[in-house]
Amino acid sequence: MNIAIYMRLSKEDDFSHEESNSITMQRLLLRDYVREHFPQDNVLEYSDDGYSGTNFDRPGVQELLEGVKNGEINCIIVKDFSRFARDYIELGSYLEQIFPFMGVRFISVNDKYDSIKYEGNVADIDVNFKNLLYDLYSKDLSMKVKASLRAVKEQGKAVCSTPPFGYAKDPGDRHKFVIAEDEAAVVRRIFKMYADGMSAVEIASTFNAEGVKSPSQVWHEKGIRKATPKGGVFVWQHSAIHRILKNRAYTGDLVQGVYECVKIRDDKRVTDPDKWIIAENHHEPIIDRNTFDKVQARYGKTCRKYRITDDHVLMGKVVCGCCGHNLRHNDGKMGQAYYWCSGLNIYHLDGCVKRMEDFFLEEVVLYQLQQHIMELGESDKLLQDEKDAAVADVDALKKKCKAAEKAIAKSKEKRMAEFEAYALGNKERYDASADEMEKLKKKHERLKEQLAEAENRLKELNRQKTHESFAVKKLTKELIDEYVESIMVFNNDDVKIAWK
Ligand SMILES: [Zn+2]
Repeated sequence: MNIAIYMRLSKEDDFSHEESNSITMQRLLLRDYVREHFPQDNVLEYSDDGYSGTNFDRPGVQELLEGVKNGEINCIIVKDFSRFARDYIELGSYLEQIFPFMGVRFISVNDKYDSIKYEGNVADIDVNFKNLLYDLYSKDLSMKVKASLRAVKEQGKAVCSTPPFGYAKDPGDRHKFVIAEDEAAVVRRIFKMYADGMSAVEIASTFNAEGVKSPSQVWHEKGIRKATPKGGVFVWQHSAIHRILKNRAYTGDLVQGVYECVKIRDDKRVTDPDKWIIAENHHEPIIDRNTFDKVQARYGKTCRKYRITDDHVLMGKVVCGCCGHNLRHNDGKMGQAYYWCSGLNIYHLDGCVKRMEDFFLEEVVLYQLQQHIMELGESDKLLQDEKDAAVADVDALKKKCKAAEKAIAKSKEKRMAEFEAYALGNKERYDASADEMEKLKKKHERLKEQLAEAENRLKELNRQKTHESFAVKKLTKELIDEYVESIMVFNNDDVKIAWK
């Protein structure tokens, strides 16, 4: 087969996915696909950089179609339909009439479309078309919705579905917040604990130990959110603490427009702070500005404390809990740097890690490493106790052996004396002392066996390596290399560490 891979990038893609739609990423994906499915075949490459997909006035696509006409190409592979054409009528006529007529096979990798499999099966094509249509239509629609929402936000009205933890919607005006006292008390405690030097992880574990209800639990019980955690138990995550500590809403300001949908049906991302819509003193504060600013100042410092500027401590150890790939690091020009899984762009797996802020991750790893080393220290203590006991055993048995030897020697002396008695005719006493001698010798044998056993046990214990028990203050590459095999990260902020 003569295969052509076709790639296209244009301005209209800029706001969708910067990286996944780049020509390089498209080429990578398509080359991978070809290598896997058509390892024997010739591959030609065509691309249009900076051309819209709404028409066919593109040099790359024209060259491609020329090749099809000349019979040089009989298979076209693209990343998705819209790479080839955004005009669905044109696309449809190519897929349904032109290509089948010319005997050209058409494959769209991400749409899981292969013309060979869809022969005469129009219903399935429809589904793919519908998706394409949906994307085109909803992009336009969502622009309009976004614009009108923005107008409401600019009037200082809250349009979020759930107010921040600690607040409830004002029953009199759904755009306003009132303080929910029970929750607000938890928020105040979080700020106090953090200002007093506790870390987010420590605060979360304290709350879990005390049974303080987490925001998700509170919302779940109020019926605001339906989702239950995977394990069925609501717990405080360090990330929830961080979200609260960073949320300016607690000072009374309403901050909206922080997140923006990157793509239809896709994830949210944080927008440029310039685009945030802020209404100051929108509601009653839970935290005074002074305290909030102090916490933010410390927040920044803690971030830097763990950060190693030119080399990320966890790099190479952090893997995606979904696909198992090493995570990549993004310096996060605006805001927090984070780890993410490139599987998102290559395999389009939903479970791949979208964003794990590196500061969170480093804090969690540090905490777990501290626990781990403490446990190792505990087991060392146990080992030491065992060793001490074994040494005592050996000593005691040695003493007993000596005593037994002495008893035997004494008995011998006695027997010498008794031999004279025997000579004088007292046979019974002589026999009795022979029994005693036998008993003493047996006892001595037993003790010697026990001693040998105890000595072996001690030797065995001494062979076991002990760990230096110490307090870890900071993550370093050396520590990570020594103790950590791998760190598995999941989208729900779960972190699983495999120790060496
Ligand atoms: Zn992944």
